[in-house]
Amino acid sequence: MFLFLREASRNTLPPCLCLFPDKVVAAINAGGSSILDTSFGIDFVDDRFFSGGDVLRTAEDIVDAQEPSLYRTARYGEVTYALDGLESGDYYVDIHFAEIIFTNGPPGMRIFDVYIQDEKVVSDLDVYGRVGSNRPLILLNVRAAVNGGVLTLAFRGVVGNPTISAICVHRAPPLGAEPVVSHDQFTSLRWKTARSRMLADSRFMRDKSRGAVTESEQRLEELRNECHQAWISVQESNRQAEKLRDELSVKSLTVDTLANAVETQVLELRDLKEKEMNEKTKLKLAVSDAQRKVEELRILYSLLSKDARDCICSFPDPHGMVSAVQALVNEQKELKKRLLDESQERKFLYNKLIEMKGNFLPGNVRVFCRCRPLNASEASASSVSLVEFDSARENELVIRAGTNPKKLYKFDRVFTPEDDQPEVFADTSPVVVSVLDGYNVCIFAYGQTGTGKTFTMEGIPGNRGVNYRTLEELFRLSTVRKGEVNYEIKVSVLEVYNEQIRDLLTTPSQAGLAPKRLEIKQDADGGHRVPGLVEAEVHSMTEVWEVLQSGSAARAVGSTNANEHSSRSHCMLCVKVRGENMTTGECTRSKLWLVDLAGSERVAKSDVQGDRLKEAQNINKSLSALGDVIHALTTKSNHVPYRNSKLTHLLQDSLGGESKTLMFVQISPTEADVGETLCSLNFASRVRGVEMGPAKKQLDSSEFFKYKQMAEKAKQDVKTKDDSVRRLEDSLRTTESKLKVKEQLCQSLAEKVKD
Ligand code: ADP
Ligand code: MG
Repeated sequence: MFLFLREASRNTLPPCLCLFPDKVVAAINAGGSSILDTSFGIDFVDDRFFSGGDVLRTAEDIVDAQEPSLYRTARYGEVTYALDGLESGDYYVDIHFAEIIFTNGPPGMRIFDVYIQDEKVVSDLDVYGRVGSNRPLILLNVRAAVNGGVLTLAFRGVVGNPTISAICVHRAPPLGAEPVVSHDQFTSLRWKTARSRMLADSRFMRDKSRGAVTESEQRLEELRNECHQAWISVQESNRQAEKLRDELSVKSLTVDTLANAVETQVLELRDLKEKEMNEKTKLKLAVSDAQRKVEELRILYSLLSKDARDCICSFPDPHGMVSAVQALVNEQKELKKRLLDESQERKFLYNKLIEMKGNFLPGNVRVFCRCRPLNASEASASSVSLVEFDSARENELVIRAGTNPKKLYKFDRVFTPEDDQPEVFADTSPVVVSVLDGYNVCIFAYGQTGTGKTFTMEGIPGNRGVNYRTLEELFRLSTVRKGEVNYEIKVSVLEVYNEQIRDLLTTPSQAGLAPKRLEIKQDADGGHRVPGLVEAEVHSMTEVWEVLQSGSAARAVGSTNANEHSSRSHCMLCVKVRGENMTTGECTRSKLWLVDLAGSERVAKSDVQGDRLKEAQNINKSLSALGDVIHALTTKSNHVPYRNSKLTHLLQDSLGGESKTLMFVQISPTEADVGETLCSLNFASRVRGVEMGPAKKQLDSSEFFKYKQMAEKAKQDVKTKDDSVRRLEDSLRTTESKLKVKEQLCQSLAEKVKD
């Protein structure tokens, strides 16, 4: 048997197929359909005679193939072809292969053995290893003997499955008559041909040549192994290269990071350097500035030293200075004494002026009458006022009461309905001011309910009455006199109801408790006080207002009708003043009572009973007591019945003696009230010590003119004294400041002398 292994190349012809096409007995396109009239000169039939395996197909180009379509199909797997019906004799078998699956290799992916008539004719055939992919490999002219009519071809995989593209069987010439193949193009295969020929030469010589075959196969095996090893090492190298590439990219990443870090460091370094430079420049500037300042200070120091020397030289006699200062001190003392004298004279003249103006000296009782206007309902009912005022007859009023003769009343001051709060207070303020000079004062409003007692004392929002204005004036004056006399002002608010004293400034927590019974006690010095009564120290009008408000609020608490209640109780505001003369050190304590009395209307006994009767009796008792006390005072009676009521007892210190008392008698202008009006006016006249009588002139005009002139003169005197006091104060201040300068000078000289 002759074996030709051929690597097909373009334009080459397989010798047997070319030479003996007529001898072909079978040509099969393995895994494909028939291909007629091929360039081999043979018709290939469709795949048949096989058992086992599958069909493989490819659309790729087959390189260097005489009949490419033959290799685009293949049978794949463990396959056996059994061609039967053959005449006995020798045949040549050509088998066509092509690697059409593992087109990228590597070698060794598919290795298989070929058996003909159960005899292995090729072992470990690796098509890719020999010719690469998509390229034909032909096992040519393998001689085989057929005896039983059947020719079997078997393909067994060693690595992977065999693939077979085509099989061609043709009659073989007798042994020794085979054509000699000589193709220069196949020189590389020639040795293989020779070796195959040797193999084919003899089945008989097989034993002899087997050793050589085995050796070749071993060699082949070795070469394959080497190839495989080389492939593995290439793979390994690739892996290494890949690894190295990875490492390289990691390294280059690190290098990039490092480069960035270095760049940042460089920038930071540059910034630092810049900052350092700036700091250095700043420091340089600061140093030169400091040097300049030191130089300036040095110059200043030398100038000051010179001044000090000059100063010492200009005062050669410190003892002379001391006696000059002494003289100034004496002068200041003298000035202080004169100031004191002048102040006292001013006070004396001021009191005189008050008296001249129609006010009064300590111990006097003054009565002001105030008539309220007709209210809205009276005006709409066309009521007419019964009270007449004559502008020519100041401080007099006349009551027209029906057919009765007119009655004239004269008071210290008469306010018509047109006189408003400021006018009323203007005449009240001199009395109030005397509290600051240490006098006790009592001002109260008396009259029938609804005649304006509360209006005069408390006033209404936006038009405040005597209470508020009095405190305002006290604060104003205490501010003016600050430094000369310092004042401390305390306020209490209380009411007397049914002969009981109720503190209206008790805190709310105490208010829940049973009302404390307040009593009047006499001090060792003869003064009267109410132990336990709240005295709120006030420093401003805001505080005063708060106190007055809380007093009013407390008065309303517990009464079903606040107005009614207020008309049946006496509401009393007590202002205590402590003054300290900063020049003389003299201290004064005085009290000012501002009282809104209960309504004076008489209640017919038949009209009331029970509580209301008791109230009426108490009111009547206390008001009569008040009238009695004042009358006793004005008539200089030996006994003054202060203790007849709580009201007079409380007011004891401020009624009579050195105190000044002012009463507002409030009246209504209407006919309906005329009875009560007359009662009130009579009461007031009795208080004043002037009995009611027919209308008559109280004072002749020449006498009045004389008083007026005296008042003018006194006023002038006060003004002159005021000016002289002011001049003295100025000169005192100048002397004091001069003294201070001299003292400082003396002190510094004394220190220098010591040095
Ligand atoms: P009393 O306290 O004597 O009972 P009020 O002070 O409550 O009386 O006065 C009664 C009413 O008359 C109040 O509405 C009050 O505002 C008003 N009134 C009293 N006197 C005057 C006045 N001189 N000018 C204007 N209104 C007055
Ligand atoms: Mg009232």
